[in-house]
Amino acid sequence: MANTTADLEALLMQRSLGDAELLAAAEAASDFRILPDATVIKIGGQSLIDRGRAAVYPLVDEIVAARKRHKLLIGTGAGTRARHLYSIAAGLGLPAGVLSQLGASVADQNAAMLGQLLAKHGISSVDNAGLSAVPLFLAEVHAVVFSGMPPYGLWMRPPVEGVIPPYRTDAGCFLVAEQFGCKAMIYVKDENGLYTANPKTAKDATFIPKISVEEMKAKGLHDSILEFPVLDLLLTARHIREVQVVNGLVPGNLTRALNGEHVGTIITA
Ligand code: ADP
Ligand code: MG
Repeated sequence: MANTTADLEALLMQRSLGDAELLAAAEAASDFRILPDATVIKIGGQSLIDRGRAAVYPLVDEIVAARKRHKLLIGTGAGTRARHLYSIAAGLGLPAGVLSQLGASVADQNAAMLGQLLAKHGISSVDNAGLSAVPLFLAEVHAVVFSGMPPYGLWMRPPVEGVIPPYRTDAGCFLVAEQFGCKAMIYVKDENGLYTANPKTAKDATFIPKISVEEMKAKGLHDSILEFPVLDLLLTARHIREVQVVNGLVPGNLTRALNGEHVGTIITA
């Protein structure tokens, strides 16, 4: 059993990079959290930003107040404009990689708008959440806005069926939280959390306060309130072992979730 850097180096020189012993040796070092004090919050596109002022202004106030006690990486969703683009582009026969670029442009628009609203509080929007000035912003003003779409662009892994990019802003924000080893991942949407069916169309749907990925899949809820690839990302994650989905239309919910309270649905690995 290899357990030193020298052993690992020898294995890396000789074996395939998928070799089981090599993978075990590469796992030997303990995990390191890059931004352990920060929480990633995703502000929904369709569920919140598309509702305009009524939904966004109260959230902005809550973010400004919350950053006194919390460090926030604020990712944006895309929403209705992206869906419109996807329908046109898919109708034109364009591939997932192109749709991914189109969707990213909408998440960028939402990050730009949120950045303008937060500017007078000293909070900036960055073009790329992948470090750069992000640690400095977090240290100095406790918050930064980023565009939630993962930057796969044309290299988006095509879905099994159709051309809708499978990794969109729920996944992009999750991956930021996981890679940086953040404290928590909170999805801010327009429902109290997960229900037994879509509460917008099923009036008898009942609320589920806590559920595991496995249970969600067993109940056929894998493609509901979060993009389905997020569930598999959660299963293999090292740092983010649960996420919470909260209703951002209810004032105070985001703050309570940031304080570690259970106010929505907690989905566990
Ligand atoms: P975002 O704005 O972050 O992209 P979405 O609109 O994609 O969020 O996802 C949230 C929506 O998911 C809710 O508004 C709700 O209509 C829908 N949804 C579908 N199935 C469910 C379910 N079982 N429980 C809760 N919400 C659901
Ligand atoms: Mg969505």
